Amino acid sequence: MAAVQRRGLPRISSEIPSNKPAYLGLTSLAHPVYFIFPLTYMIRLAIQKSGRLSEDSLNLIRECGISFQTSSYRLKTEATNFPLEILYLRDDDIPGYVQDGVADLGIVGQNVLVEAGMPALELEPLGFSKCRLSLAVPRAAGYDSVQDLQGKNIATSYPQILGDYLAERGVKANLHTISGSVEIAPSIGLAEAICDIVSSGSTLLGNGLREVETVFRSEAVLIANQNMSAEKREILEQLQFRMQAVRRARRNKYILLNAPTASLDAVKALLPGIKSPTVTPLAEEGWVSVQSVVNEDDFWHITGQLKAVGAEGILVLPIEKMIA
Ligand code: ATP
Ligand code: ZN
Repeated sequence: MAAVQRRGLPRISSEIPSNKPAYLGLTSLAHPVYFIFPLTYMIRLAIQKSGRLSEDSLNLIRECGISFQTSSYRLKTEATNFPLEILYLRDDDIPGYVQDGVADLGIVGQNVLVEAGMPALELEPLGFSKCRLSLAVPRAAGYDSVQDLQGKNIATSYPQILGDYLAERGVKANLHTISGSVEIAPSIGLAEAICDIVSSGSTLLGNGLREVETVFRSEAVLIANQNMSAEKREILEQLQFRMQAVRRARRNKYILLNAPTASLDAVKALLPGIKSPTVTPLAEEGWVSVQSVVNEDDFWHITGQLKAVGAEGILVLPIEKMIA
């Protein structure tokens, strides 16, 4: 395929040039093409510098096949094989920087995004850092419904989200905004209830509190500036294509098994696969080998049923990338 030059857009070529940085942009598996971006076409992604989102954000970028150097002292890094610059910031600052265009993209918890009042920046959920924002009261305190919080003092780092939640339920409370150690507020007499992030609930338990309402469910999301140039949008599309392939692969497993030919219809019904399962005869008469893909959530349930219809030698393998 000859090189194609579109006005204002990166040059597209089927050959990797030796003298320019080239980035693989798979438009289809059968015909890979290489997008050659001049250095001006670079996208900036802001991630949390150090915290609960950092490792999973870096892993996701790496699993997208993007290489870069990391160091805890750095404020930014440039990828070596994709037109991406990574900025390391406090998570609370990420929505504002993306809104202002200082960064084009960001990875942040929905809790921080919605609290900042910028939910419209969300592009897609990323499936990690799942947590919930909950109301909790001292274990000994009585609690029947959210109406019990009428006129009470509630400590939280999320006055916006909590304020909206209470207003929707007609509850007026005094919200005390504090930035950390919210769970100690009742024991020091600052508040009668708190609203904070909960994952396992052990921190609440350790502070003599019990969870009474889920206010908001959150996970990490990819966010984007809404006025990106066409060139940057094109890079974003490639990045999203890769991120989606990584996420799909994480959610699925590759499964191989042997089954009696007589059970094949039952096995096929359990393993519909992407299009249909691959079936190959075994050397032993009356047996076939079946290969397919199963969703991780259904996996244990399906393997039990496969054994029940006569499947043997079931192997399950992780999938590295899964292209739709
Ligand atoms: P920074 O110093 O960047 O401001 P932080 O202390 O505000 O960091 P972290 O505690 O690192 O934030 O949490 C970052 C995000 O991770 C939260 O906003 C939330 O989306 C998510 N998160 C928080 N706690 C949990 C948890 N226990 N389990 C899963 N995800 C969580
Ligand atoms: Zn923060």
